[in-house]
Amino acid sequence: MKCKRCKAPAEVELRQHNAGFCRACFIFYFQRQVERAIAKERMLVPEESVLVAVSGGKDSLALWDVLIELGYRTTGLHLSLGIGAYSDHSTAKTVAFAEQRGLPLITVSLAEQGLAVPDIAGLTRRPACSACGTMKRHYFDQLAIDRGFPVVATGHNLDDEAARLLGNVLHWQMEHLARQRPVLQPTHERFVRKVKPLFRCSEYETAVYAFMRGISYVVDECPNAAGATQLLYKELLNRLEAESPGSKLTFVQEFLHKAQPALTPAAVEPPQTCTGCGMPSYGELCGFCRLVRETDIRRARRQAAGRA
Ligand code: AMP
Ligand code: ZN
Repeated sequence: MKCKRCKAPAEVELRQHNAGFCRACFIFYFQRQVERAIAKERMLVPEESVLVAVSGGKDSLALWDVLIELGYRTTGLHLSLGIGAYSDHSTAKTVAFAEQRGLPLITVSLAEQGLAVPDIAGLTRRPACSACGTMKRHYFDQLAIDRGFPVVATGHNLDDEAARLLGNVLHWQMEHLARQRPVLQPTHERFVRKVKPLFRCSEYETAVYAFMRGISYVVDECPNAAGATQLLYKELLNRLEAESPGSKLTFVQEFLHKAQPALTPAAVEPPQTCTGCGMPSYGELCGFCRLVRETDIRRARRQAAGRA
């Protein structure tokens, strides 16, 4: 197969586009895809400072790399989640990436705040992924607001979005479907815009891009993700994609074009202000502060029981 752009021997075949690319042209193609997604969905304006949420995995590091190449002013935000060796490796990869390129990076260690994900999940008996999601949402908004960033970019890719869409459709989660967009505008002065510039790039394309750009990333999945329903949906979609290339892109793209505009988010009261942390909340305390409070109470009880 020959490269679609320059006719040199192709190194990557993209079956969903019925095209092959050599290394240089694939890098160009990938960056153009992201550039177009940003422009079409009006995710970012050139002079804005973007806070990039970086996990140390291929998607968010590839995203950071592309945003730099496209000329955006960026700062990385990494949450060290306290999930054993997995988190240590993730943090090391993120720090190395930022140092090699001289990029600003904010790192927050949850373990140092007594909020390591396995601890809060164990103490409050919540699923680790749910506790982890609450922490991420809170810190992404809070740090963006405190440091003056109008927007947070995450590395969610096409496979993530297709799997989430399948889950939402299987359960007809109308409110989640109404909010499943590549750009989410803030609904409160202490929320910021969230954007997903890689939403049209498949996991495979992102992995190839990271490899071709020499990005060193954490390959392991989060140990908590094993058996997660999201992985089953991804497997199913991969089977569909193998039989019918382009299925994932059509599924997500046509949803956004045809179904999404017909869904209006349910009229909910605007959020109040959390009395614990000042962030938006539906109730006196936000989800994060409830989780922290519950953790503190159970930890104190456990310590008291240990002393008795
Ligand atoms: P996940 O929820 O693991 O599928 O990750 C989705 C996106 O959230 C990633 O592409 C990152 O942009 C962001 N993210 C995930 N984990 C972290 C983390 N520990 N620190 C900062 N950003 C993260
Ligand atoms: Zn709060």
